[in-house]
Amino acid sequence: MNAFDELAQALEILPNIGTKSAQRIAYYLLQHNREGTEHLIQCLENALKQVKHCRLCNTFCEHDICDLCADQTRDQSQLMIVQMPLDISILESANCHQGLYFVLMGSIQPLQNMDLNSIAIKKLLNRLHEGDVKEIIIATNFNAEGEATAFILQEILKKLPFKVTRLARGMPLGSELEYTDLGTLAQSFYERTPIGKEK
Ligand SMILES: [Zn+2]
Repeated sequence: MNAFDELAQALEILPNIGTKSAQRIAYYLLQHNREGTEHLIQCLENALKQVKHCRLCNTFCEHDICDLCADQTRDQSQLMIVQMPLDISILESANCHQGLYFVLMGSIQPLQNMDLNSIAIKKLLNRLHEGDVKEIIIATNFNAEGEATAFILQEILKKLPFKVTRLARGMPLGSELEYTDLGTLAQSFYERTPIGKEK
């Protein structure tokens, strides 16, 4: 295989990039923006070396624990569970949650045997043994994957001694936090609903 084809094939690891798009991107990188491409290579190398996961909340960070987890002014008793690091930025912009976060780094795919390995369940359970968490707020998306993830979390967490709540249903059905307006998001936080405990 020649170097161009190899590059195009490597680009297919990106989400939603098929063979044709990968070839177009490879062409662009080599033909139109060699300087940008050099910079991209440098950034990828640096990020791969430096970015790891926060020991506590599992988000991307460059230290053992991230700034947010290290911030003692945050409410240590509330832990909000989100799917992706980007969800933290969105919830922070909504300015409603003063507690801490945990990032699953994925979601349960309901059509693929509800595979638990696609989310960081073990790390979450370890996290719950550390610190003073009293309330767990499930803030997964309101689409099929987010619902399946919330269901699994609910099943696991109801056996544990925490108050478990979920963002309220004011969120449009099928919606992802990423595309929800901040007012609606804040409202769904304040109206969050408790999830039933096992009798
Ligand atoms: Zn953290």
